[in-house]
Amino acid sequence: MRLVPLLELRGLSVRLPAEPVPVHALRGLDLELLPGERLALVGESGSGKSTVLLAIAGLLPDEAEITGGRRFPALGREPTPGRDLGLVLQDPFASLDPVLSVGEQIGEVLVAHRGARWAEARRAAVVLLGRVGIAEPEARVDDPPHRFSGGQRQRIAIAMAIAAGPRLLLADEPTSALDTVVQAQILDLLDGLVREQGTALLLVTHDLAVASRIADRIAVLYAGRLVESGPAFRLLRSPRHPYTRALLAIARALEAGGGEPLAAIPGAPPEPGAELPGCSFAPRCPLASARCAEERPAWRGHPRDGVACHLVGS
Ligand code: SF4
Repeated sequence: MRLVPLLELRGLSVRLPAEPVPVHALRGLDLELLPGERLALVGESGSGKSTVLLAIAGLLPDEAEITGGRRFPALGREPTPGRDLGLVLQDPFASLDPVLSVGEQIGEVLVAHRGARWAEARRAAVVLLGRVGIAEPEARVDDPPHRFSGGQRQRIAIAMAIAAGPRLLLADEPTSALDTVVQAQILDLLDGLVREQGTALLLVTHDLAVASRIADRIAVLYAGRLVESGPAFRLLRSPRHPYTRALLAIARALEAGGGEPLAAIPGAPPEPGAELPGCSFAPRCPLASARCAEERPAWRGHPRDGVACHLVGS
């Protein structure tokens, strides 16, 4: 029996006004996420991955031109941010109010979305702080965010995001500002929480190594288009798109202790306003032919396990 997707994006294109030309942030994106699934959306800076999260959360600016769309079939309605949909950002200070105590901020979510009374919400905040690994939560619940370390603040932001038991958690580079030890702890925490609650996770990252720690499925974005997606074990073992292979080589080089991020991919991504008639990766692809510059590669394979490259399946 086919599961009803929690989230479906169909032909999603987003243009943002800019000078001298508008930015094509997304160019016809198809993507789906099943209930409880953990999907990592991977791509370098400017690939459009954060725009995907903003589009899902309904947070794109009013002036954005949007075509195609997003649906939440398993919910059957628009999600309510905070209740159905939690958001974790790269910088936890962006989600935390510096003036309010962490207990008040977590409690607010429960009062607003679960109808809790304040005393009850405070008790629940203590439990949530303990669940995300804050030691002595009863003693820390009334502290403001600045009394916590960067890693602890990210744990508190996660506690807020999961407080109302959302069906979907969106996480935008949640570990990239943290050192590698804390990064691993936060990823393990996220992994445990979404498994425990049956929450679907959409994790945005530039780092395939981060994706490989947590994702059931990986989708690779390049210049606003999906270039490959598939089960994590397949994509990491036998990537089909030259860009995915390059990202994987970088992740492995970094894991082995050498190399700079993205140093292994020569050239730069296309200008965000550029018209791209052919394969957007052609100027950087070691396997490009004349056809690649003129003809956009069609998606080959299954919608959940496929690739857009002329060399695959031809
Ligand atoms: Fe490279 Fe051509 Fe495949 Fe694009 S379509 S990834 S340029 S081989």
